[in-house]
Amino acid sequence: MEQGPWDRELYPALAVTLAAGFAAFLIWRFTLNAPALPACWFFTRWHVYCPACGGTRAIIALTHGKVAQACYWNPAVPVGAVSVAAYLLSQTLWRLRGRRGWVLRYSNRWLWAFLLLMAVNCGARNLLWFGFGIAL
Ligand SMILES: [Zn+2]
Repeated sequence: MEQGPWDRELYPALAVTLAAGFAAFLIWRFTLNAPALPACWFFTRWHVYCPACGGTRAIIALTHGKVAQACYWNPAVPVGAVSVAAYLLSQTLWRLRGRRGWVLRYSNRWLWAFLLLMAVNCGARNLLWFGFGIAL
């Protein structure tokens, strides 16, 4: 089975990005002693939720196994994490089997679905904030 047009670049790029993120986490946690992360620059300046608002809190909740809480903070984070994990696992197993059998392939539909989820979350948060004064 042939590789998809994006898979040859995306698979190593995701693996390197995850490794770099993990290295950054280790430096932040053990070298810098976990300093407080800054609040969202966009929200701090304009008091409007950006599409990534709640992302850091969602990642922290996800690393503690609190999936529902991660979905509350920013549903794009757990959805993205599961999608990337499934893609990397599938691609790794496919490569170990000699590039035979079923494998998840990247499609731009994944990206558009992810961006749509972020946009819907951002819209809902700002609707609650401006329409009802509910801060999340
Ligand atoms: Zn933000």
